[in-house]
Amino acid sequence: MKKPTIKIALDGPSGSGKSTMAKLLAKEMGFVYIDTGSLYRTIGLYVERKGLDSDDITGIVSLLPEINITMQLVDGGGVVFLNGEKIGDEIRTPKISKYASDVSKVPEVRSFLLELQRNIAENNNVIMDGRDIGTVILPDAQVKIFMDANAETRARRRFDELRAKGQDVKYEDVLSDIIWRDKNDSERALAPAVPAEDAIMHDNSGLNIQENLEALKKIIKEKIGNAL
Ligand code: C5P
Repeated sequence: MKKPTIKIALDGPSGSGKSTMAKLLAKEMGFVYIDTGSLYRTIGLYVERKGLDSDDITGIVSLLPEINITMQLVDGGGVVFLNGEKIGDEIRTPKISKYASDVSKVPEVRSFLLELQRNIAENNNVIMDGRDIGTVILPDAQVKIFMDANAETRARRRFDELRAKGQDVKYEDVLSDIIWRDKNDSERALAPAVPAEDAIMHDNSGLNIQENLEALKKIIKEKIGNAL
């Protein structure tokens, strides 16, 4: 029988540091890192390119049969392909963030992406970052962590990240985008961004990257120390 893989679910709102932490942890542990937000962003990109509004649910659903999304594992991370086209930073703009948040409310979009995410976790030891990994995608994950930080801290991190990528954004706009997305993602009916009952809550507002990493390693070790 195939040995079960180890699954670590890292959920939380935007800017809570999930991707930074998941990447570092995956590298140290030799796990595959999967950023599930990139999948919703890729669908958002396709919808935007087709000229649809982000809340055109019927239009979004009608586009799904034309979309083929795959993930290739490269250097321990998932690279997304949209109908064969490699997807990069074009999904990291404020406009596509809004599209991603809106398309992710559509049930057909969520079920469209479900198998892809589960398959990867069945075949690899993974750290998966998202909103519903512990609740819906991998309810059997051995470790579930829900990361959070106050909105200002998260906006500051996102602002620094976008600026470092050369994007000309204002802090106030990033903050209001974060507050809008928090509401949109946590109040939706389907797979809202809320902690699983058995998730460990981790607020990292006052922590720097190293402190955050150490705290997460401690949580993981306590849960699955012997399995590593
Ligand atoms: O994580 P990131 O900010 O890149 O995700 C973009 C959007 O995709 C989120 O605002 C959220 O609406 C959606 N998402 C989701 N479920 C996930 C990951 C992301 O609904 N597991």
